[in-house]
Amino acid sequence: MNYGYKRFSGNLILVSAQYPLLQTDAPRCVPVLDTFPQVLLEHRAAACLRQLLNAVGATDEIVPVSGYRSFSQQVEIYRSSLLEHGADFTGKYVAKPGCSEHQTGLAIDLAQKAADIDFLCPDFPDTGICERFRSAASRYGFVQRYTQDKEDITGIACEPWHFRYVGYPHSEIMVQMGFCLEEYIDYLHQFSQGNPFVLQQHGRQIAVYFAGETPVQTADEAPITEVSGNNVDGCVMTIWQ
Ligand SMILES: [Zn+2]
Repeated sequence: MNYGYKRFSGNLILVSAQYPLLQTDAPRCVPVLDTFPQVLLEHRAAACLRQLLNAVGATDEIVPVSGYRSFSQQVEIYRSSLLEHGADFTGKYVAKPGCSEHQTGLAIDLAQKAADIDFLCPDFPDTGICERFRSAASRYGFVQRYTQDKEDITGIACEPWHFRYVGYPHSEIMVQMGFCLEEYIDYLHQFSQGNPFVLQQHGRQIAVYFAGETPVQTADEAPITEVSGNNVDGCVMTIWQ
């Protein structure tokens, strides 16, 4: 089986000013919560987010603000931010069309429930239910994507409200090792099929490695194999043994 076509799609794609989205198919998206039918997320990411909100008891306290955006929606948001807030603010907080993680369907902006919610910079504090959500996020495949200490690498200002689905165990590895997605993608290059990164989890072994542009199919005995492009230079394999 040839996984080469996967290079530009999957949970681990890095989308930024340097690496615009190349995936051409719109992700299959669903509403995260029935109460906010306009906020969509890729269907597996949405299911994990619902589990996470339920697990921390936040379904009625945390509000989904902005999830999947089409290219044309991102154009509209970018234009209106330029008009309303100017170039400095927009450069800091709004990605150019084609370069927004929101176009992947894997990113979501969340707010603490309030009467007034800022669409571009919602309030998501370091306390209470929001902090409980943030602490539990990596167990459900999510990471806070833009943190203060990684601004030089991501090129995006700290966004406490923006969460990215990368899938488990990648979220857990990133948090444990203190990596943002750029660093994690880079780090994985040293691992290969014969020399994978191995995570022991509840008696199971999960192997992760970089597989280049056209990874080969793994042995049949591997029960679950996931392949994701990185949108940079190839694919990442994740094998649950
Ligand atoms: Zn966002």
